[in-house]
Amino acid sequence: MNEETDLQELVTTAIDCGALTDITWPGKVSASSLTKQDATIASKIDEAVLAINEFYVAENPTAKTRCIDGRHDPELDEAQLGPQVPGGAPGAALAYRLGVDKDDLTRGTFLNDAETMIANFIRLGFSPGGHRDEHSLHESTVGCGAIDGMDAILATMTSPSLVEDHKRVVKLLLGEDFNRDTYLRVMGAAVLVNGRSKEYFRDREHIIDILEKRVPKSTATLKGVHQECIVAINLVPNTTFSSNRFTDAFSIQAFGYDLWRSKEMAHKLLPLPTQAVDRERFVMARVMSTVATLMALTDGSQRLVVRLLEKANQE
Ligand SMILES: [Zn+2]
Repeated sequence: MNEETDLQELVTTAIDCGALTDITWPGKVSASSLTKQDATIASKIDEAVLAINEFYVAENPTAKTRCIDGRHDPELDEAQLGPQVPGGAPGAALAYRLGVDKDDLTRGTFLNDAETMIANFIRLGFSPGGHRDEHSLHESTVGCGAIDGMDAILATMTSPSLVEDHKRVVKLLLGEDFNRDTYLRVMGAAVLVNGRSKEYFRDREHIIDILEKRVPKSTATLKGVHQECIVAINLVPNTTFSSNRFTDAFSIQAFGYDLWRSKEMAHKLLPLPTQAVDRERFVMARVMSTVATLMALTDGSQRLVVRLLEKANQE
């Protein structure tokens, strides 16, 4: 059977993986507390999980990168949906620092790393993007949990009591690509950076201003409060989640992470055949920081859905 025939037989499926965890993660966003307040939420979650595939569309390669945040974006254009990654474009900077950067880990700042990453996006033809929220307009915070909470995210990732659960979820998302040595290497880098977290993350809130200056209209201002009840991980290349349309349909939100985009980004940032190891490290660090972001933002009571390509007619 040739490769083309193989591709034709692939179908897209969204697999319900149950709750994110059986323990309680440190974050505040809670699907179970929403379910307690409103008895109809539980059935809405079930319905939404079954129908979630219908809310994926082709990404628009020229559209700005979006965050995983499930809240409403009043200016979102349904025909211009960019892929979703935690913290938008600046979020990739931490993964690069932990996985790839050969600099001394006792030096450097997130702000510098993120500026470099935005420059890389522009150079490689990706549209960077980021966001604030309506609550942060006159505050010193950004309004993006993945940026504001970055120190908490790193502390969560390196917390001895959470590391086993963190590894379990990373393994689930990476499947056969999970490499224990790479995981431990990135974890080691995370411990070092976490040790100088205050210094490394200083002034990080300026990154959204810098992004706006470099690329006008690249940032969104999200509205409302977090009500994410689902975490949707998407492995199907060049597709993304229509977050506004989903919330309009079910009155609940979902965090959406386009994991395929991190793999694509690794190939663009590190294109040479000799950079295969660094590509693997970048993807590992991005998935590890995404899982840590979910652990720091939620209590883990959300439903995990993994969307992927599967061979048709499998029994
Ligand atoms: Zn965000």
